[in-house]
Amino acid sequence: MKSTSSYTHFYPEGAVIYFEGEPGNNAFIIEKGRVEVSITRKGNKQVLAEYSAGDLVGEMSLIDNSPRSATVTALEPTEVITIYRSLFDIAMNDVHPVVSLMIRTIMYHRRKTNPSPLSKSDQDEYYDLKKKKDPEYQHDRAEAVNLIMAEKELSEAIDNQQFELYYQPITSFENNKIVGMEALIRWNHPEGDVISAGEIIPIAEKTSLIKKLGEYIIDSACSDFSRLARDLPGINSDCPDFFISINLSAKQLIYTDFLENIKSSILNHNVDPSRIMLEITENILMQDPESALNILNKLKQLGFQVAIDDFGNGYSSMGYLHAFPIDYIKIDHSFIETMYTRSTSMTIIRSIIDLAKAVDLKVIAEGVETEDQLNIVREFGADMAQGFFLSEPMPYPDVVTLLNVKL
Ligand code: C2E
Ligand code: CA
Ligand code: CA
Repeated sequence: MKSTSSYTHFYPEGAVIYFEGEPGNNAFIIEKGRVEVSITRKGNKQVLAEYSAGDLVGEMSLIDNSPRSATVTALEPTEVITIYRSLFDIAMNDVHPVVSLMIRTIMYHRRKTNPSPLSKSDQDEYYDLKKKKDPEYQHDRAEAVNLIMAEKELSEAIDNQQFELYYQPITSFENNKIVGMEALIRWNHPEGDVISAGEIIPIAEKTSLIKKLGEYIIDSACSDFSRLARDLPGINSDCPDFFISINLSAKQLIYTDFLENIKSSILNHNVDPSRIMLEITENILMQDPESALNILNKLKQLGFQVAIDDFGNGYSSMGYLHAFPIDYIKIDHSFIETMYTRSTSMTIIRSIIDLAKAVDLKVIAEGVETEDQLNIVREFGADMAQGFFLSEPMPYPDVVTLLNVKL
């Protein structure tokens, strides 16, 4: 075998790429040439298949960590690209447990029907036992079952109106007044606990439920916004710019009816979209900049305001941000939290604010827990602040009471 790079390997005609019974630590994509897959039984070679450019061989051992079940030989000069186990293991780590469970199941089913020196019943028994003892298979199955159950439970929770939006006030430094509030999801679990967003959203994102939950959140926030005008009659005249901000998940945006749904929510509740701020994380922008730009342009055309949430926490690039139609950035709370303990945090906060100003973006400082932190972000030039020092997130009736006093 002649190696041209650690990924590309060349086999002359007749060379064996791997032998039956060998441990299988890589799979091969055939770039050029042709190979034959064979087994030897009682001294007789049996050809099972032939593959050529574009085909993949050796994948079974990579998936289930079993020895090679056949020999692969080059029938003509053949060039392959190697997929190493290390790469495959990383890729499998990122795979959704339901998909991974399916891949592993297909493997077991195939192994049971593949040619084997064992009798049919011995072969069945061997693979059934192997599956039972396979920790990866059992782990994927447990995770898949958990997710399916969680999806069911969350879906019923939406139908049974167990979700509630809490609101956390956002205060402007210009007049020290509350100028808006962020909607944060909570689950009033029937067993009495109030479950926070950090536990709900990641599960919803791993299931299709993020769509239903996301639509529910947008619609409830719009409904609450129109309630607010009734509950606080002066709000529109006294605070014509008062806004509600809504968090969007990347997984929500991939659905093609996202824009239609958000449009119907604002129409149904008669909400002016310029009073809604949509919070997205910078990772959404960086993962697929082209579709992010497309969707942001459409949201801006509809009149929404857009904020980049958790800024500084991901691949932050101010230059990149400039290319997107954005109104606000929210400095990630971790910088405020470590203001005094990590020497770079203070510099980063100041630089983010300076750069944001330079490209005409407004800045909200998040996670402000002390008066000191509030004074510092104010001094650095942030426009608004949000955090436990000013107010915790609270249910809608409580926020109405607070706004009655504070507006
Ligand atoms: P986030 O968007 O960064 O929201 C701010 C989180 O910080 C909230 O946690 C809030 O309760 C918490 N927080 C507020 N002030 C302070 C403070 O002074 N100190 C500290 N340590 N924390 C503070 P929550 O509500 O548990 O939400 C966690 C995350 O879950 C949110 O982070 C957001 O990414 C996501 N999330 C919340 N609600 C929604 C939602 O309706 N839709 C989507 N897609 N995601 C949501
Ligand atoms: Ca947020
Ligand atoms: Ca945030």
